[in-house]
Amino acid sequence: MTKRLTTTAGNPIADNQNSITAGPRGPVLMQDYQLLEKLAHQNRERIPERVVHAKGWGAHGTFTVTADISQYSCASIFAGVGKQTPMISRFSTVAGEMGAADAERDVRGFALKFYTDQGNWDLVGNNTPVFFIRDPLKFPDFIHTQKRHPKTNLRSNDAAWDFWSLSPESLHQVTILMSDRGLPQTPMNMNGYGSHTYSLWNAKGERFWVKFHFKTQQGHSHFTDAEAEKIVGQSRETYQEALFGAIEAGQFPKWKMLIQVMPEADAENMPFNPFDLTKVWPHADFPLIEVGEFELNRNADNYFAEIENCAYSPSNVVQGIGHSPDKMLQARIFSYADAHRYRLGTHYEALPVNAPKSGRAHYHKDGSMRFFDNNEANPDAYYEPNSFDGPVESPEVAEPPLRISGDADRYNHRDGNDDYAQPRDLHDKVMNDAERARLYRNTAAHMHGVADDIIERALAQYARVSQAYADGIRAEREKLKSGS
Ligand code: NDP
Repeated sequence: MTKRLTTTAGNPIADNQNSITAGPRGPVLMQDYQLLEKLAHQNRERIPERVVHAKGWGAHGTFTVTADISQYSCASIFAGVGKQTPMISRFSTVAGEMGAADAERDVRGFALKFYTDQGNWDLVGNNTPVFFIRDPLKFPDFIHTQKRHPKTNLRSNDAAWDFWSLSPESLHQVTILMSDRGLPQTPMNMNGYGSHTYSLWNAKGERFWVKFHFKTQQGHSHFTDAEAEKIVGQSRETYQEALFGAIEAGQFPKWKMLIQVMPEADAENMPFNPFDLTKVWPHADFPLIEVGEFELNRNADNYFAEIENCAYSPSNVVQGIGHSPDKMLQARIFSYADAHRYRLGTHYEALPVNAPKSGRAHYHKDGSMRFFDNNEANPDAYYEPNSFDGPVESPEVAEPPLRISGDADRYNHRDGNDDYAQPRDLHDKVMNDAERARLYRNTAAHMHGVADDIIERALAQYARVSQAYADGIRAEREKLKSGS
C-alpha cells in the first residue's frame, strides 16, 4: 500500500502541490498550515556549524581488542583480547566552514566515540600528535587567525604568520602542517593521535600517563598543493566521496590503536613537560604498545542526524581512563561540551547517536530536547539523595587521586620549554631530502603575499630550528617571486 503523506502531527495531507489561495491568482490564506509548516521547517534546517572542525566526514565501526593492557587500565573496553565495542568516527578540517573543499591543507580532526558497556568514551584527537599552542588562553586568538578577517571577510595569511611568528611553540605543528602530512588524500590515508596526554589506571589503582596513536592500515598518501588545486577544481567533496564510497563498496578502512605509557611518578623527572601539547614523547623512550584495531564498516543512514549531530567531548571518559594536567585538555573538557549545548541543546547527549548504549541515569531535569522518559520510571526520585530508589553513586569507579600540586599562579608557559628541538628532529632526522624540499615549497607558498617584516620574524624562528630550514624556505620564496 502507498504510504500516506502527513503533517508532523500525523494528519494525512490531501494536496502537496498547490497552496490554498483566494482564487487561482489570489494570495495564500493563513490557514494553509501545511505551507506554513513546510516554510518554518525549512528555516530551521540549519543549526550553528561548529566554530572549528565544521566540515566533517564520518562512519560507524567496531573496535576490537588485540592485546591485553589490563596491567595499565581496568577500562571495560579493553577487557579481553577479541572484545568488540561499537563506535563512530568523525574526521574534519579545522578552519574551513561546512561548505569548504575537502582537499585543503589543514590539520584534520580525528574524533572517535566508543559506546562502551560503561558509558561513552570519546577520544577527540587530530591527525597530528601535537598542536599549535600549549596554553588554552591563546586558543580563541589562534582560531581568529585561521578564520575570516573582520573587514575583508577573507582568510588572512598575514594573521596566521603574524601569530605563528610570535608563538614559537607553534613551530612543531606548523612544520607538520606544511609537510606531506598536511594534505592527506582521504581520511583513510592518515594517522590519528589522541595528541594530549591522558591517563590510564588499573585495578590496583596505579595511574599511568598515556598517549594514544591510531595508525592507518591503508598507508599514508598525500596531495601536493598543485595536485590538490586540480582535485578541488573537479570536486570539493573528495573525502566524503572516498570514505562513503569505500564503505559502500565493502572496503572497510582500519586503524591500529597503540599507546605510549609513562608511569605516574616518572613525569616529574622528564627533561620536557610530558603534559605539553606541542611535544611528542620520543618513540625510543616510550615504545608503542599494541592495544587493538578499529574498522569503519557502516555509513550513516542520515548524515545530519548521525555525523553532524554526533557530539564528541574529551569530558567523556570511563572508569580506567582519565585526564591529565595538560592545560589544553583541561580547557577542552569545558569547551567541547559547551559547544554542543549551544549548537544542539541542553540534552544533546540524549540524541540517538550520542546516547550511551549502556543506559544512563541522571537527575538533570528539563530544557531543550527533554524528550526522554524518567530513567527509573519512578516520578518521586527526581533529586538526590532520595528515599525512592533513585540512582545512586558508585564509589568503586572512583579515579585514583591525581598526585599533582603547585602554587596557583599565571606561569609563563614559554619558560623552560624548548620549542625548537622536536621540530628540528622532524626536519633533520625524520624527513628525507625530497620531503624537506616539499616542506620548504609549501611553507613559502603559504607565506605568499604576507608582509616582509612578519616573514623575517618567522624565518628568524625557523633559523633557530635549523639554518638549513630557514634557508630552504627563503630560497623557495625567491623562486616563487621570480615565477619558477
Ligand atoms: P622516530 O623516528 O621514532 O619517529 C618519527 C615519526 O615521525 C614516525 O614514526 C612517523 O610517525 C612520523 N613522521 C614521519 N613523517 C612525518 C611527517 N612528514 N610529519 C609528521 N610526522 C612524520 O622519532 P621520535 O619519536 O624521536 O620523533 C622524532 C620526531 O618525529 C618528533 O619530533 C615528531 O616531530 C615526529 N613524530 C613523532 C611521533 C611520536 O609520537 N614520537 C609521532 C609523529 C611524529 P608515525 O609512526 O606516527 O606515523
